[in-house]
Amino acid sequence: MPHNLFPSVALLAVWPAITASAVEPAVPNVVLAIHGGIAAKRKESNAELEKTLRAELQRALETGYRELQKPQASGLDAVEAAIRILEDSPYFNAGKGAVFTHEGRNELDASIMEGHHKRAGAVASVTVIKNPIAAARAVMEKSKHVLLVGRGAEVFATKAGLEIVDPSYFWTQRRWDEIQETWRKEAEATGKSSAAPAVAQEQWSTVGAVALDAAGNLAAGTSTGGMSNKMFGRVGDSPIIGAGTYADNEACAVSATGHGEYFIRYAVAHDIAALMKYKQMPVEAAAAEVVLGKLKTAGGEGGVIVLDRQGRLAMPYNTEGMYRGYVARDGKVTVLLYGE
Ligand code: ASP
Repeated sequence: MPHNLFPSVALLAVWPAITASAVEPAVPNVVLAIHGGIAAKRKESNAELEKTLRAELQRALETGYRELQKPQASGLDAVEAAIRILEDSPYFNAGKGAVFTHEGRNELDASIMEGHHKRAGAVASVTVIKNPIAAARAVMEKSKHVLLVGRGAEVFATKAGLEIVDPSYFWTQRRWDEIQETWRKEAEATGKSSAAPAVAQEQWSTVGAVALDAAGNLAAGTSTGGMSNKMFGRVGDSPIIGAGTYADNEACAVSATGHGEYFIRYAVAHDIAALMKYKQMPVEAAAAEVVLGKLKTAGGEGGVIVLDRQGRLAMPYNTEGMYRGYVARDGKVTVLLYGE
């Protein structure tokens, strides 16, 4: 039988084209942007929580921006500084405040990348490193590798002089209550013959940052506790270069949040950069094509922040909201949670 060299039309037409009106215009003159993950469903949110989230995002943006003001500042410094604030805050799923695994532990992942030489570093499944983003940077700068996992990453971070904590440091009442509820629903569902198990919605609220420094270099970083109730040893997209994080001076810097398995399979961060680099698509069109087009069609929930070398920022998400914010060149800070 002759080999069919041409995929069928059905295979080619896999997702609906994104119409120009669905593409949000890019925000100009941005030097730093962050996300605090996919927002909680609006009906489960409240004014007090939203006020706290806004204040925490604002603090992270101001801290990152201060780094960018220093002489010889690098985008990497701004990305790391902003992410550290969010890792230390109990309100985001990264560092303190990370979600629990199915076994009731906290396993953290992070990565960082710069767009000039395309150096990158990452850690996965770590349990005692206070700031996984600092460990990711140390892997990039002080080892000849890109990704270290588990115990190896922890020994490396200890030797690199990073702060080590007891695993209990990452425990928070709020996340513990959430996982108890998930387990309760799971147990309830197992006892039922119903086809639709009443398992709680997974929580996605990874943190990330993208920056453009005065030298014109892009940087990106992402840090997470991963997916709530994940299997022991599961690693998502956040520490995977090209999936959850990417930076290339010829295209853009990207940090993602959402259902990691989809972001890995669709190489989301790199795919956006590739559309810009090889198809000369503007940042907002490339980001929308991937997040609102193919990812959404595939059922992959999530969003990205993407910054290009001209300081144009796109922040598409295919969920109800995404905690996010940015700082303009003149220092003006904007924080957004839903579709405001
Ligand atoms: N992307 C992360 C993961 O799958 C989760 C998140 O964004 O909250 O590990």
